[in-house]
Amino acid sequence: MAIGKHQQALLRKLPGVDHVLTLIAEDDYFADIPQSVIVAAVRRAIDAMRRSILTGQAGLAPDAAGEAHIIAPQIITQITDRVRTNVDRAMQPNLRHTVNAAGIVVHTNLGRSLLACQALTHLQTIAGRYSNLEYNLDRGRRGSRYSAVEDLLCELTGAEAAMVVNNNAGAVLLSLNSLADGREVVISRGELVEIGGSFRIPDVMQKSGAQMREVGTTNRTHLRDYENAVGVQTGLLLKVHTSNYSVVGFTASLSLTEIVALGRRHQIPVMEDLGSGNLIDFSRYGLKGEPTVQQSVAAGVDVITFSGDKLLGGPQAGIILGRRNFIDTIRHNPLTRALRIDKLTLAALEATLRLYRDPEAAVAAIPTLQMITRPAADIKARAEELATRLRAVGDRRLTVTLLDLSSKTGGGALPLLDLPSRCVGIRVDGLSVNAVERALRAHVTPIIGRIEAEFFVMDLRTVLDDELDIIVNAFTELIKEVEP
Ligand SMILES: *Cc1c(COP(=O)(O)O)cnc(C)c1O
Repeated sequence: MAIGKHQQALLRKLPGVDHVLTLIAEDDYFADIPQSVIVAAVRRAIDAMRRSILTGQAGLAPDAAGEAHIIAPQIITQITDRVRTNVDRAMQPNLRHTVNAAGIVVHTNLGRSLLACQALTHLQTIAGRYSNLEYNLDRGRRGSRYSAVEDLLCELTGAEAAMVVNNNAGAVLLSLNSLADGREVVISRGELVEIGGSFRIPDVMQKSGAQMREVGTTNRTHLRDYENAVGVQTGLLLKVHTSNYSVVGFTASLSLTEIVALGRRHQIPVMEDLGSGNLIDFSRYGLKGEPTVQQSVAAGVDVITFSGDKLLGGPQAGIILGRRNFIDTIRHNPLTRALRIDKLTLAALEATLRLYRDPEAAVAAIPTLQMITRPAADIKARAEELATRLRAVGDRRLTVTLLDLSSKTGGGALPLLDLPSRCVGIRVDGLSVNAVERALRAHVTPIIGRIEAEFFVMDLRTVLDDELDIIVNAFTELIKEVEP
């Protein structure tokens, strides 16, 4: 790209880093900002200015004489504005509070599950104090870090033994490696899922050292398919919950009971990756279809794995439970140390599990469960409140409407289930819906919604009560910035 005369003149007017630093030295705005942050912000601002001059986007016109001399102050102003923006950015945490108005309860990109107050409190205590993490207080010597949750998990699910690792992907890898390294794992073709974030059953299987033995077809797998595949080389029968999709139509698969019976006949252990894994029978809340962990234990599955932060509503963790001898084998695998759960997770998980002793209390206290079972009337009331408050911003450029749409549980749970929801849709005159979406995403507390039918849509199912203020403020600010 040839650089024009005007651009060359502008580039010559670009100040140096030291010059900008002197200019802002007296500015109170930067008083409490570490010097290293300011210097980096100035460098980036000058670079960005240089780029916008080169691409002709600087919005600087030469004066009547065709000279760039009156442009210098404009360049300086633009640079110092950018320095402020850069400093603001740098001083904010990178990981920060974001409003989930997308209506997906277990939203992997937005942090999956929110912890219950009880879990937060316990986490804070254990994080800020020494604890008996691996100390047996009865015996006065080294103990096991799993003892904080093992008994609870067994009590809640009926399993003989339990342990936890960093996440469910780790739990699956570890279990496969412990039980079937160098041997075949029989799995139905219809269950070779990809979970997202590049977790694919065939790949994990390969990394575990086990050999995959696929049986059946995508839509239909029969007992005889399993029977034909089982032999002395078989180490494990694996069932994977097809979390994020559903095969419908002409289908056949084995029930858990049938697979367990087959495993017993051939003395081969049976493992089930439940994915989401929940302890609550959702049919009581009018939501059908998600099997519980208790059902898998009762069916006699030897090893069951599931996530801590999907439908369970706790911290990220991989829970492994089942028959004692298999859990012992897994526990003694050296890989276990590499996938070890940390104490903050353990504290949050224990407190979350304790809530499940009273299922009603669990649903009331655990945000993920609260949101999934939130009564339609509640959502409607909140949507109406938000709509009223947004209309009260009192600007005719805002079009506020209420829409009947649906939310999703997310996290690979209940893939086909639409939860009916009442949403607030917004249009802003003079701004495209994409620009509105971008502006809210760029807000100090970013607000993530979705776009439907030219409306920016916010689903109130996943918005917390005290976040309505944030949304109203964001729109008030947005309107101020739009040309009247
Ligand atoms: C989500 C999921 C996993 C991975 O669990 P993480 O907790 O994300 O590691 C594994 N298997 C299934 C079936 C899943 O749905």
